[in-house]
Amino acid sequence: MTKRVNLIRPLVEQLHPYVPGEQPKIEGLIKLNTNENPYPPSPKVLDAVRAATDARLRLYPNPTAQALCERLADVHGCQPENIIIGNGSDELLTLAVRAFVEPISAIRGSNSSSATVQFFDPSYSLYPVLAEIHGSATNAVPLAKDFRLPTPAQLEARGQWRFDAALTLITTPNAPSGRGFPTCELKALCEYQNGVTILDEAYVDFAEENALSLALQFPHVLVARTFSKSYSLCFQRIGYFVGSALLIRALHKVRDSYNVNGLGQVAALATLDDLPYYQKNFRKIIASRTKLTSELTSMGFTVFPSQANFILAKPPGPSAEIWLKMLREEKILVRWFNKPKIKQYLRITIGSNNEVAALLKAVHSSLVSNSGSSELKEP
Ligand SMILES: *Cc1c(COP(=O)(O)O)cnc(C)c1O
Repeated sequence: MTKRVNLIRPLVEQLHPYVPGEQPKIEGLIKLNTNENPYPPSPKVLDAVRAATDARLRLYPNPTAQALCERLADVHGCQPENIIIGNGSDELLTLAVRAFVEPISAIRGSNSSSATVQFFDPSYSLYPVLAEIHGSATNAVPLAKDFRLPTPAQLEARGQWRFDAALTLITTPNAPSGRGFPTCELKALCEYQNGVTILDEAYVDFAEENALSLALQFPHVLVARTFSKSYSLCFQRIGYFVGSALLIRALHKVRDSYNVNGLGQVAALATLDDLPYYQKNFRKIIASRTKLTSELTSMGFTVFPSQANFILAKPPGPSAEIWLKMLREEKILVRWFNKPKIKQYLRITIGSNNEVAALLKAVHSSLVSNSGSSELKEP
């Protein structure tokens, strides 16, 4: 028999795939680890999905999600040509790498900027994976300890940043820090970037400002949005980009013909018909964020100011990893990243009022049972 070798491309053999937050099925678990919205979609959205669930499921959906593009164009004051819908914004990020970045193998001898995907560290941990899959280079540029956006002058002075990178990805508000980047600072950076620059606004509905105007102002800037977090629609996988028709056309060329599922299109349209329902939820989540931040701070946590639906917090006493385990024993799941810059922190999604109360109670009792023992410090 022939011995088959190398069925898998070496690049794929060596790939470090994205690690999503756990989705455990544990009865009564309070899930604060993947930044899902604690509130359900609007009843009108559920009705619309139910009403669309009939024999029409045999048909292909609209290939460009045209009706949704048109509604979003109205919402954002642009043209449908300025919008592309994706199977979640994750898919669109993949398409952006495919459309705008060369694989390293294709650029022998020419400038490596055309094969570079650039982002800040920490930010969304999917970005390096997408670059790796495409065989492109990454440029992960560290943020300072306070996670603020550096100015173009600071980036220039430090030397690592590439103003000519083919693709720059900026999570704003940032994850996992929660820090919101002011639009004027983002604008200053966009002005200096030569390559495509994506402002990933997955959490922007929980923030004080957004940078959508930059996508309509600069031909090389795209803003990424998703229905997942703020519109309680992770399950349906709907995200979109806003930007110049030039970039949007290029992205359409590299997508699958029917990339956006039909029920997702229905759900997203119904969502846009009931925005006040969601705006009320944004306000509730922001109020819970304020409460959680102040209560954890008063119990000795260091909490970064957040513009998102999660907070990044450094617990007192035992390490963040131990806190993760202690909270898990109380059936509360938060996120801990075993990475140099952020391993001393927990990322906690803002839950419902009851979930926030349960978290605070668990934190309080852990602190009480730990106090008095000399094991407050890490072993
Ligand atoms: C959740 C998230 C996404 C992906 O959203 P989907 O639309 O569900 O694919 C993209 N970027 C950031 C920063 C996120 O946190």
